[in-house]
Amino acid sequence: ATVLAIETSCDETAVAIVKDRHVLSSVVSSQIASHQPYGGIVPEVASRQHVEIVNSAIAQALQEATLDWSGIDGIAATCTPGLLGALLVGLTTAKTLALLYQKPLIGVHHLEGHIYASYLAAADLQPPFLCLLVSGGHTSLIYVKDCGHYKTLGQTRDDAAGEAFDKVARLMHLGYPGGPIIDRLATQGNSKAFPLPEGQVSLATGGFHRYDSSFSGLKTAMLRLTQKLQQENPALPIEDLAASFQATVAKALTKRAIACALDYGLDTIAVGGGVAANTGLRQHLQAAAQTHNLRVLFPPLQFCTDNAAMIACAAAEHLQRGHISPLTLGAQSRMAIADVMQLYAHS
Ligand code: ATP
Ligand code: MG
Ligand code: FE
Repeated sequence: ATVLAIETSCDETAVAIVKDRHVLSSVVSSQIASHQPYGGIVPEVASRQHVEIVNSAIAQALQEATLDWSGIDGIAATCTPGLLGALLVGLTTAKTLALLYQKPLIGVHHLEGHIYASYLAAADLQPPFLCLLVSGGHTSLIYVKDCGHYKTLGQTRDDAAGEAFDKVARLMHLGYPGGPIIDRLATQGNSKAFPLPEGQVSLATGGFHRYDSSFSGLKTAMLRLTQKLQQENPALPIEDLAASFQATVAKALTKRAIACALDYGLDTIAVGGGVAANTGLRQHLQAAAQTHNLRVLFPPLQFCTDNAAMIACAAAEHLQRGHISPLTLGAQSRMAIADVMQLYAHS
């Protein structure tokens, strides 16, 4: 099926056309510059920009795919989770187009989209597999049973992985978003320069939770360390700090993902979300997986952070299976990924 999808859950206005697992066009208009002065995302600014950009992004996606509406089998939009006002722009646009051109509407859960980004890297990928979802808002280990059927096995108890990168970059005054900046600096630093706590989650029984992560302790350790170093010398060794921090995050995520895959007998780990672009994580997880004979998949870099191709890819499979959303579908700021089938009318 050929699907046009709109993604406006956060600060990227994205439209893509995907035929099954092949990208025909993918337009991503980032609002980073508009939010940079605030050091984070301002919801009202995001919604307003989506309204301004979405129509030209749709036109561009059709043009790049050399298609008109007759070549589109379904229209999809991210409908949860995300900023409510931002989601509403994309969903309302998709509903209007679905009604106007008499096409089925497919609402998509944003995290299912991040999972489907891996299918864009490996069209032969088949469930079951484990997804390590590491984004700006989530750090999850998800058992992918089938299209629409997911079980969350592990989560973060505090900050998400991407959020930790952003906050640590902020306390080092490096700019926003922090992930790509720290990644770049880390390549020039010594990852063993500063020993840092990995952030294990304790169980009431005295043991550790194997799949949950915690990054707030690491963040605090980075704050203390930078304050201490700054007292000794105002010029921070930012490369070594970045490398040490990044290696600690990579190690923590790798350990949990490998343990989870082995425990559940899954031979493939598909990584998704913005932090899947991280060089340290890619190297670390790849090496560990090799020693355990596991397959690791990383989406192409442009499909790690938010994009509409991953949404269209998920929607194409739902459409193929007859999963269609009612035109009364609403946007929701939160929804567990285990509940995604609620987005489709049951026939
Ligand atoms: P969610 O999907 O949970 O709603 P989001 O959509 O905002 O959150 P993504 O777009 O998937 O998140 O990812 C953005 C995050 O990825 C940011 O926190 C950013 O710092 C981080 N990120 C991007 N590139 C890298 C990188 N190379 N290394 C580490 N982190 C990165
Ligand atoms: Mg984003
Ligand atoms: Fe995302």
